[in-house]
Amino acid sequence: MTQHLEGRCLCGAISYSVAGEPAGQLVCHCRDCQRQTGSACSTIMGVPAAALTINGEPSVFQHEGESGRSVKRFFCGDCGSPLFTEAEASPGVMWVKTGTLDNPDAFTPQVHIWCVSKQSWLETGDVPAAERNP
Ligand SMILES: [Zn+2]
Ligand SMILES: [Zn+2]
Repeated sequence: MTQHLEGRCLCGAISYSVAGEPAGQLVCHCRDCQRQTGSACSTIMGVPAAALTINGEPSVFQHEGESGRSVKRFFCGDCGSPLFTEAEASPGVMWVKTGTLDNPDAFTPQVHIWCVSKQSWLETGDVPAAERNP
């Protein structure tokens, strides 16, 4: 299914569009995502970096992920919305935070990862779940 994906941060200073198919669609329960989102998990969609057009200048925070490899987290410096993640472990892919999509229902989770730190009340249902990043 071809769909045109667009999204933006809370204040609108940063917007984006995706021309292409999303690859992986993940729910990440790692502690870093919990802290960064201030929530239970990240819902993320991997898109080819070349297919992502960003309008505006996101701020970036770089750190070492739980895998021990570099992770860059892009966010709006005005309103703080987390927008994209770029991981050394998945070169050429930008992971879009799907809560920022204009149509967040375009996200269909394929796998839950880092369930080792999943919050206990959150049910993964029929979707496959991995302890770490498979
Ligand atoms: Zn913003
Ligand atoms: Zn994570």
